[in-house]
Amino acid sequence: MSFKPPIRTLMGPGPSDVYPQVSAALARPTIGHLDPAFVELMDEIKSLLQFAFQTKNELTLPISAPGSAGMEASFVNLIEPGDKVIVCQNGVFGGRMQENVTRLGAQAIMVMDDWGTAVSIDKVQEAVKAHPDACAIAFVHAETSTGVRSDAQALCALAQQHNMLSIVDTVTGLAGIEVAVDDWGADAVYSGTQKCLSCVPGISPITFSSRAQQIIANRKTPVQSWFLDMNLVMGYWGAGVKRAYHHTAPVNAMYALHESLLILKDQGLEASWLKHKNNHLALRAGLEALGLTLVVAEQDRLPQLNAVSVPEGVDEAQVRNKLLSEYNLEIGAGLGQLAGKVWRIGLMGCASKADNVRLCLHALESALAAQGHSIEAGAAISAANAAYASQVN
Ligand SMILES: *Cc1c(COP(=O)(O)O)cnc(C)c1O
Repeated sequence: MSFKPPIRTLMGPGPSDVYPQVSAALARPTIGHLDPAFVELMDEIKSLLQFAFQTKNELTLPISAPGSAGMEASFVNLIEPGDKVIVCQNGVFGGRMQENVTRLGAQAIMVMDDWGTAVSIDKVQEAVKAHPDACAIAFVHAETSTGVRSDAQALCALAQQHNMLSIVDTVTGLAGIEVAVDDWGADAVYSGTQKCLSCVPGISPITFSSRAQQIIANRKTPVQSWFLDMNLVMGYWGAGVKRAYHHTAPVNAMYALHESLLILKDQGLEASWLKHKNNHLALRAGLEALGLTLVVAEQDRLPQLNAVSVPEGVDEAQVRNKLLSEYNLEIGAGLGQLAGKVWRIGLMGCASKADNVRLCLHALESALAAQGHSIEAGAAISAANAAYASQVN
């Protein structure tokens, strides 16, 4: 029997709902990965990614694997055994960066911040002073495990001042909040298709500065991963080369990525960020009317990922189960240190819309009421509506 997935509304940490135009693109006929028409599409995807990342970096491409592969590609190409890397951790994904560094035979200098807070620039500055021989600073711009935004501009500037590379995870950031690779002077920045791009999971857009590109071309040791070695990948994705087989690109998934990037371009970057912000503000107003509080301080909040504290006496899993079974609505559970303590409500890409905000508030209200929390019926949606009414678009 064919698999027929249930129709859900995806308001978790990813994947997010996929644009219908993107799903339609996915279903178009498969062509060869070296077909001249596909090669043309590859060039368009690269230039659309330059737009999305706000960069002129030549080495900008979609890696044929999910966001985690973008992380791995950044480290495996730029770091060599024996190198020292300053790794900032304020959630789950910084821990994965540490794993990447140590598995390469390099040393991770950890800068730890509490989960739910931004990376401390002061602490990173201290680490840079204590380890001037480090070759890179790695951090997560948009920490999906906690809903925190860190100051990418300041961290990349710090790296530049000390002649270190910057490695930036913006898997959840891209299209949801400002990502300005060239302004930041960032060296390796990767994202994913399944968060604010509202494309199917499985591809990782990535961009390397020309400085990073030089380093990759002049390594002392070969890149440990054959599949992610940019020197080889560029034989297929590079400009000015006769494109040759490296691996078979996920051809249909590339149609989907192209379509989602066209949607972003049509919408405009600023409009996309504003959309995410406005829906976040309306959700926040509704959550507060339900007596719920956000984990992250206002100035560090990601609009696309809202970590909400589970109130005392509420069974958090039961709430999520009710949302899924009665409303076909998926929200995320807490990860790591925050497991059991928070819900993570995503408002990413095409899932970031007023109907979803209202659906989520309504469903939460009913799930909380079912657990004996007395809440004024409809107050949350009224608060969200009032927030929308006060917004200028
Ligand atoms: C989702 C995510 C990843 C991993 O992406 P996958 O597509 O799941 O491999 C990496 N970093 C952050 C911050 C993420 O949110």
